[in-house]
Order: sequence, then structure tokens, then C-alpha cells
Amino acid sequence: MPDIQEKILSGLRVTRIGLGHYNVQSESDATKNYSVDLMDYGGLGSCTCDDQVLRRHPRWSKVRENHDSFRCKHIRFLRVHVLDQIIQFYLKKRIKQSNPK
Ligand SMILES: [Zn+2]
Repeated sequence: MPDIQEKILSGLRVTRIGLGHYNVQSESDATKNYSVDLMDYGGLGSCTCDDQVLRRHPRWSKVRENHDSFRCKHIRFLRVHVLDQIIQFYLKKRIKQSNPK
């Protein structure tokens, strides 16, 4: 499946550094990057920003389901981005299937 190498998404520079693993530019400090790994913790995801490390991650003992309130905006943002790519990938496949040569 195609994925970004480096792209500006919602005004922020996003660089792919591995499968489901990205560097995302900080909104408050453009010289700063956060490392976001969507595969960490069985798919809950991890991020190195303060919101995730100090506020959301410590509440994970209460996680009963795959819930977005335990994820910072960077994880949520990239999950939506990856889902968009999967949908586009499926869409192309479906168009191909309905127009066989
Ligand atoms: Zn974050």
C-alpha cells in the first residue's frame, strides 16, 4: 500500500520513518518533532508529546476498549490519515474490479 514519505498535512510536516511510524512537526514549535508509532501497545499507539506522555498514557490502566480519549491529537490525526489512505486504496481496487479489461 502506498504511504507518504514526507508531506504537509493540515499545515504540519509529517515524515514517515517506518511502517505506521511517523515524525510529526509540533504546532507550537516548528523546530520540534514528535515521534508517533501507531503500532505501539497493540495498536493503541504512542507519541512523545507531553499530552500523551504525561496526561493520556498514565490513564491507560483504565483502557477497556480502543478509545480515542486515551490518544493525543497526533495519534488521532495520523490514524485518520492512514484510514484515508486505506479507503483510497480500496476505492482504486473497487474501480478496477468494476472496469475489467
Ligand atoms: Zn502527541
